[in-house]
Amino acid sequence: MEHPENDPKYNGLKVNKGIAQPPSVNPYLKKRVRSNAYTVAEYVEGILAGDRVILSQAVTLVESSRPEHQETAQAIIEQCLPHSGNAVRVGITGVPGAGKSTSIDAFGMHLLEKGHKLAVLAIDPSSERSGGSILGDKTRMEKLSMEKNAFIRPSPSAGSLGGVARKTRESIVLCEAAGFDYLFVETVGVGQSETAVHSMVDFFLLIQIAGAGDELQGIKRGIMEMADGIVINKADGDNIDKAKMAQRQLRNALHLYPLPESGWSPEVLTYSGYYNLGITEVWDMIHRYIDFVKQNGFFDLRRREQAKYWMFESINEQLRNGFYRDPEIAKLLLQLEDEVLHSRKSSFVAAREAIGRYYRNGK
Ligand code: GDP
Repeated sequence: MEHPENDPKYNGLKVNKGIAQPPSVNPYLKKRVRSNAYTVAEYVEGILAGDRVILSQAVTLVESSRPEHQETAQAIIEQCLPHSGNAVRVGITGVPGAGKSTSIDAFGMHLLEKGHKLAVLAIDPSSERSGGSILGDKTRMEKLSMEKNAFIRPSPSAGSLGGVARKTRESIVLCEAAGFDYLFVETVGVGQSETAVHSMVDFFLLIQIAGAGDELQGIKRGIMEMADGIVINKADGDNIDKAKMAQRQLRNALHLYPLPESGWSPEVLTYSGYYNLGITEVWDMIHRYIDFVKQNGFFDLRRREQAKYWMFESINEQLRNGFYRDPEIAKLLLQLEDEVLHSRKSSFVAAREAIGRYYRNGK
């Protein structure tokens, strides 16, 4: 008997026969608000017209892991691609507290005053690990966030660093198609997301502060080598001397590095994001770099290399997702994990077995 408690002889609580549950939300509403809010053509049209609401919703689709959202997102991206590529893409990194948001606010306002449109995207690897984020959800960039020519989007949070970075890279395409001619990709200077950001920007800017010590600022040799420019923030008040000293030290340190592939020697400048000092000089440097690499061909070379890099990243991501999301493989992995933990099988044999099963299944 399905419900023994409904037996007339049963003395406990009674359970009445239930009714079919009505849908929790008006299905029409659900359809309008969610993935099918617009057709692909409507999304593309809206983006090309610079409609920020539609752009924002399209970015949400890019960030979604639902297959039907991904399908729509990829179709939108494909149609936006011919309209992208015209922005100056700048990566900005620095340890928490270096003044990234204050600086982005100042840099951004500088660009807006010159009539540009700016989109600010972020890659925050901390949000994946801890559920919290270093870049934060609080309203940062107070001035910019009030401007209609600025589009600020926090980091996509779900997924591996590679997946998060891929989504940001795809969002760049949409922002450019929407007419944003400057793009910032912000990340935390803690060591792993820099490579991902570096592989999607034209200029990589490292924000430093004086007196924090290299180890405190997480400055691994690799990050210094990636930087096209290093700027020392908070050069104001009685901090100016310290900032100038840090500038000299960094310049000396950079001399020891080989000349980067771009042929450009990275410059070191001081400025104050908070007091708006030296911002023009920072932009002069970035524009000088862009002119320089456009002339020597490195600008195009870097973009082509990046496109290649992201092709392989996307392949890796799709292979990984296909494998780990396969229910049979997930079950097998649990069993193999146990065998490896109890030393009944070596890691390599287990890995080969799992992959072998995946391909034998014709995936
Ligand atoms: P983020 O964590 O890198 O985004 O850093 P924030 O922009 O939030 O800045 C961290 C702290 O440094 C804040 O209290 C800012 O007010 C302060 N700050 C940022 N830029 C400057 C600057 O140019 N001069 C001074 N004196 N303080 C600054």
